[in-house]
Amino acid sequence: MFLLSMSTLAGAMVIITLAAYLIPDPPHPLAEDRCGFAFCEMCMKEAPYTCSACRTTRYCSPRCQSADWRVHRQSCKIHQKLNEMSTRIALTPPKRPPLGQCTGCNAKVGGEGRRLALCKDCGYQACGSCEPHYSRGTCYCPNSNFGKKYCQMEPRWYHTNGRGREYAGDRHPETQGQPYPNDMYERERRACDNCGLVTKMFKKEYRDPWVWH
Ligand SMILES: [Zn+2]
Ligand SMILES: [Zn+2]
Ligand SMILES: [Zn+2]
Ligand SMILES: [Zn+2]
Ligand SMILES: [Zn+2]
Repeated sequence: MFLLSMSTLAGAMVIITLAAYLIPDPPHPLAEDRCGFAFCEMCMKEAPYTCSACRTTRYCSPRCQSADWRVHRQSCKIHQKLNEMSTRIALTPPKRPPLGQCTGCNAKVGGEGRRLALCKDCGYQACGSCEPHYSRGTCYCPNSNFGKKYCQMEPRWYHTNGRGREYAGDRHPETQGQPYPNDMYERERRACDNCGLVTKMFKKEYRDPWVWH
């Protein structure tokens, strides 16, 4: 009896070990990601999904993801580490720039009639030629530019925190005369995640700067 139970135990352990070997940790769930056109890592077909762990590698289907998992699990970990690093860098506020010097081009501005636009929130200063510039005219604030909230503007790719991290929050741009079509908005009013205003928000697809230009 004792011997029998010992061999049963050993048998069970063999099965468990075998199972762990044959069924390694499953791939991370797929997340839908229709931002931008991308190709499947495995079959080069259009890939509407991304690995939810690294948010980098794209697949057409769970099938192709499973087929690639043996290879991808290593690079997945590396991508995750890199993502963590860039998030940390992006969230660290840059040093407040010295007063009287354009943060965009480093030009010292002191002379008459030459003024610097100053963001009171982050200290970014822009000279006359940097102020309208597509990237140098973007201050360090993650949710606004020189005090103007991104949620109140149409999406543009240079809406960043000055370090390339895109603004990804709600959008409810002020209409300048020409109203936006109704079907661009979500059905229900709700509070904006950036400014708190309760109003109609753009649907997610219209927050993507690439659909605008
Ligand atoms: Zn595929
Ligand atoms: Zn991954
Ligand atoms: Zn400048
Ligand atoms: Zn700012
Ligand atoms: Zn808002």
